[in-house]
Amino acid sequence: MITSNRFLLVGSLIFGLSGVARAETLSAQVDRYAHPTLGKDAVTVANVTLQVGHIKVTLAKGVVAPVLAGTETIGFFFDGEGKWTYASDTPEEWPVMRHDADRATRWKARDEGKSLLVSDAFDDLLWLAPGEKVPAGTAGAAPPEHAFRKHLETFARRKSDGVAQRLAYRERMAPAAPFSWVELSGGKQEAIWFRDEIESHAEDLIALKKLEFDSANAPWEWAVETISDQPIGRGFREPPRPDVVLTRVEPEIEAEKEHAKIRVTETWESAAKEPISTLHVNLRSRVFADSALDIRKNELLKVETSDGHAVDFDHRDGRLLLALPKPLAPGQPVTLRFDMEGDVLPPPSHDSYWLLGFDSWYPSPGLNGSAFTWRCTVRVRKPFVPIASGTVVSRKEEKDWNTLTTELDHPIFLPVVLGGSYHVEDVVKDGRTYHVASYAYVNHRATEHLVTLSSQIIKFYEPFLGPFPWKEFTIVEINSYGFGIAPPATMFITREAFSPHEDDLTKMFSRSLTARFAHEIAHQWWGHQIKWPDDEEEWMSESFAEYCSALQVRAEKGNGAYNQVVRDWEGRMKDSGISATLPTANRLEGETAFRDRMGLLYGRGPFLLAILHKELGEEKFLTFLKTFQSNRKWQTGSSALTASLLHYLTGKSYADFFDRYFWGTEYPKLPK
Ligand SMILES: [Zn+2]
Repeated sequence: MITSNRFLLVGSLIFGLSGVARAETLSAQVDRYAHPTLGKDAVTVANVTLQVGHIKVTLAKGVVAPVLAGTETIGFFFDGEGKWTYASDTPEEWPVMRHDADRATRWKARDEGKSLLVSDAFDDLLWLAPGEKVPAGTAGAAPPEHAFRKHLETFARRKSDGVAQRLAYRERMAPAAPFSWVELSGGKQEAIWFRDEIESHAEDLIALKKLEFDSANAPWEWAVETISDQPIGRGFREPPRPDVVLTRVEPEIEAEKEHAKIRVTETWESAAKEPISTLHVNLRSRVFADSALDIRKNELLKVETSDGHAVDFDHRDGRLLLALPKPLAPGQPVTLRFDMEGDVLPPPSHDSYWLLGFDSWYPSPGLNGSAFTWRCTVRVRKPFVPIASGTVVSRKEEKDWNTLTTELDHPIFLPVVLGGSYHVEDVVKDGRTYHVASYAYVNHRATEHLVTLSSQIIKFYEPFLGPFPWKEFTIVEINSYGFGIAPPATMFITREAFSPHEDDLTKMFSRSLTARFAHEIAHQWWGHQIKWPDDEEEWMSESFAEYCSALQVRAEKGNGAYNQVVRDWEGRMKDSGISATLPTANRLEGETAFRDRMGLLYGRGPFLLAILHKELGEEKFLTFLKTFQSNRKWQTGSSALTASLLHYLTGKSYADFFDRYFWGTEYPKLPK
């Protein structure tokens, strides 16, 4: 197919658009792609083979009709009998691809030569690739209108990251660049394959799985499972480079019961080599309250530049497309203001608080590309009390409202804002201010205890991790059991930390509390002072924090307790088996995904660090941690940087170690 006519067609595409582009809003442009129509010139085809990237598709017999967006042909629809085979040539993803295909889909992965293959049949297919030629055949067939309608309805049940915005982004940013998106239906498994050289720079095979919600009355949707993800233009082991970086976020939030008005002022900086005319970022479209029958809309009302000019945008399916007023030159910043509103503050499990957490409640590029300073003002109606990540700039009480302003002047990601039935106590200890927020009740004793515990753990870490990254630290009680979360300069910790003797559950969970506290505090170094650039490197955060927590256990309870923790990690690693490598832990799908991911990030990962510790010896290993922190302060870490620092400190290559135990699934052994 696909290369021969490209140049010609793309040329006419640009020409054809230039008259329309000015009048057409961004949403109209996206709608054009979101509601394609079927052309009249249908043809009968037999045994047509198409090969693009790593997929080979055979249209055995059936009817092909062109698919149009407006008047432009953007691909074709096929109704008949066909089959496809996809090949991964990326060995790093084979274990997880095999696991996911075999355990979470109706496919079965198979080895062939130097590839891992997945195949299936289909009875209809939508192939979107603007500028490409539609397969030729015998004229005179009836267009398969009914099958086409049905196909569009079925695939519209995927409610994330729609292809229409991707196509509009391509049209604006790189109208000559190849892009292919194929939806396959009627085989063992509904699937999407795409190859995107403009934005994601990747080729992906996705399985669609029916997602039944908690309520039988809620319409079902497709859940998306990535089976293969092969990067284009970089190695699998190299983190992607973002084109734009979010460098400043300033939210102003007004919250009354479940209703929020949110204004966010953001600064974005171009890291690309070419000017950027369009941003395509995450912004949630909806918020699930108690069930899928109660879905709240997060409405983006307007976007403006800092000098008040309206910015054209399209917001749908959790993604936001923005037409910048003028192209952003390499290295240049742009500041934009977003106004949102909605009943987006439903209380989690009927508790008396709300949370703006990790699900892109402000326009965000995702982890890779987020490194911003922060100033947040949150105004909540009494009796709720506001809490936000960062150093407290001011707290005000006026009439019916409580207002808080915080800021963080180091680059961060994943900040949080809450409002709720909280009591906040401020305690200064060893020159650091702690804000302890207890849920529902004042709890002086807990506050005092938790500040002492935090301060002890920080003092334990500082000699080998360097100074604690923040002047102030906020500890928030979450009305649940058995977990902690570590936003920047903040810790969420469940009830047992505040009331260890309250009931059987708090008693049980409070036994492991110090280790959990130590893990969450370590995240301020591993996770925030050093960030992780993408899913593949999340061990920089979780495994390193887990390891530091074990060092705290060793200091408190001795070598026996530490050795037990190390044996537990080894056991967890072996329980998770060879279902995935450590960097692909986040790709695990299927029933055992949760357990296996834990076994990798909180088993294999810290176990590798225990082995390095034993090999390097006490002094050198602690120097390794400390050097890492000071070298990569406020930047990202990676396994490649870990290996090269180890090489530098020991004079020995760790390439083989990482090949086998990090990028591979071999079990390492603890040296005697
Ligand atoms: Zn963690």
